[in-house]
Amino acid sequence: MPALYTRLLGQGARPLRWWGAALVRSAHAQRVPSGDLGRLPGRLRAFVEHGVRLCQPESVHVCDGSEAENVAVLDLLEDEGIIKPLGKYENCWLARTDPKDVARVESKTVIVTETQRDTVPIPAPGATGQLGNWMSPKTFQEAVDNRFPGCMKGRTMYVIPYSMGPIGSPLSKIGVQLTDSPYVVASMRIMTRMGAPVLRTLGEGEFVKCLHSVGRPLPLQEELVNNWPCNPEKTLIAHVPDRREIVSFGSGYGGNSLLGKKCFALRIASRIAKDEGWLAEHMLILGITNPEGQKKYVAAAFPSACGKTNLAMMNPTLPGWRVECVGDDIAWMKFDSDGRLRAINPENGFFGVAPGTSMKTNPNAMHTVQRNTLFTNVGETSEGGVYWEGIDQTLPPGTSITSWLGRPWMPGKMIMHDPFAMRPFFGYNFGRYLEHWLSMEGRRGVRLPKIFHVNWFRKDAAGNFLWPGFGENSRVLDWIFRRVEGEESARETPIGYVPQEGALNLQGLAKVDFQELFSLPKAFWEQEVREVRKYLTEQVSDDLPREVMQELEGLESRVKKM
Ligand code: GDP
Ligand code: MN
Repeated sequence: MPALYTRLLGQGARPLRWWGAALVRSAHAQRVPSGDLGRLPGRLRAFVEHGVRLCQPESVHVCDGSEAENVAVLDLLEDEGIIKPLGKYENCWLARTDPKDVARVESKTVIVTETQRDTVPIPAPGATGQLGNWMSPKTFQEAVDNRFPGCMKGRTMYVIPYSMGPIGSPLSKIGVQLTDSPYVVASMRIMTRMGAPVLRTLGEGEFVKCLHSVGRPLPLQEELVNNWPCNPEKTLIAHVPDRREIVSFGSGYGGNSLLGKKCFALRIASRIAKDEGWLAEHMLILGITNPEGQKKYVAAAFPSACGKTNLAMMNPTLPGWRVECVGDDIAWMKFDSDGRLRAINPENGFFGVAPGTSMKTNPNAMHTVQRNTLFTNVGETSEGGVYWEGIDQTLPPGTSITSWLGRPWMPGKMIMHDPFAMRPFFGYNFGRYLEHWLSMEGRRGVRLPKIFHVNWFRKDAAGNFLWPGFGENSRVLDWIFRRVEGEESARETPIGYVPQEGALNLQGLAKVDFQELFSLPKAFWEQEVREVRKYLTEQVSDDLPREVMQELEGLESRVKKM
């Protein structure tokens, strides 16, 4: 499967070179629109025409998703100096962004609803809300009017029809992104099912409307940095869940610009899921088969940079076990007519963070990125390879590394509350999200899956990880597998069930201290319940479901008696 690998990932446009020398044009030549707008379904056509009137692009291209189109887009990006080929691998490319456009920007990401409380719980007096940013419809309209008129002047507007989930599946949803970024076109082709087959399936059906611009019309007022067009001062990523709309301006990077991923598949989809009675979650999905050939599926929510991709792609160290990756980031889950929870990965590629990825930690990711990968903001070796912190590779003598320009700021591993790993991705009020989860139990005939908590990152007093992690996590999955089968191998503690001594297969792991791994220091748990109470009271406030508060009270009293 193709992949995008990034220093933490993004675009461009100028002379357009479509299909052969006869169509090579200069920056100033008139570009001929390709794709016949007249043949688009009526609703889509109206959306595109509205985008054209607002953004005033020089031309419009309706993406068909073909290989020839992809080659032309990559050619164009190379001509513009946005990407370069990596000689060491097969069909791999390196992009470098403007150092001001290197991350998803939560502070500029908003949800637009009539009332604030539809987006976020109103925090307790004196507390600052951490569960998303609301924008009023009026402010949103002003923000659009201030940014979008004429924003694609001199550029091509690409129309990207894409399907989240297999094309035509009843679980899938269609989006259409208008963008002036060919980097986004190349990236969306990796991350989603995109192009003509989606258009055929769409017909006059509904789609999520996505409008994206890097916000640098031509001619440029100021020179670009790294040939990377962006407009950081005016960056805004806005979602209008009531209208199923996403509007993104100023950034060409990652989740800010590939609108199918976090914006659609989590924020908008979580709201659609609430309306339709299913779940859109920030979770990996893996299939696991035990040595006896029995197979189960696991979905797991870990916050960003906490190990989803690694777990989904793991090589089990336990002999005879097999793990298959279904998805490494997003799960759409529904109960089927037998009450069994089913899940799909709405994506079609991998988008991963490079630092820390090595043959030791994630060999499957390392094999995946040998071909068909778009790297962004990683180091480059003089032999045309890639390099990053923790790649754990010695280079042949005489090989040098060029870091990508202007070292980006990297946040430390900061501890924070991230309920359901959805903190940056809720499409509506977290209190109501909790209610939606709780409502699953009352549905007729549903069989709820078992839920487990894991912590791969617990440290000893000297600061070393207590658990070796990565492929060794198969040992934890083995225990979970047996527990789901009904094995009596757990011991009840004030915080829930933990493995009985001897129940976790630690064979061959010399250094693991089982006692310390599952110890429950009272002082820690006293502080933990105090912080959880403070967090829920301040942040979720009046929207906290009673059932959650009751659970917390139960935990508090058990911790007191520890
Ligand atoms: P994602 O953003 O949730 O997909 O997280 P990744 O799988 O990309 O991992 C984020 C970081 O956590 C990387 O630096 C990994 O090397 C590290 N990591 C992943 N799994 C483990 C683990 O089991 N133990 C430890 N100690 N680190 C891990
Ligand atoms: Mn990941």
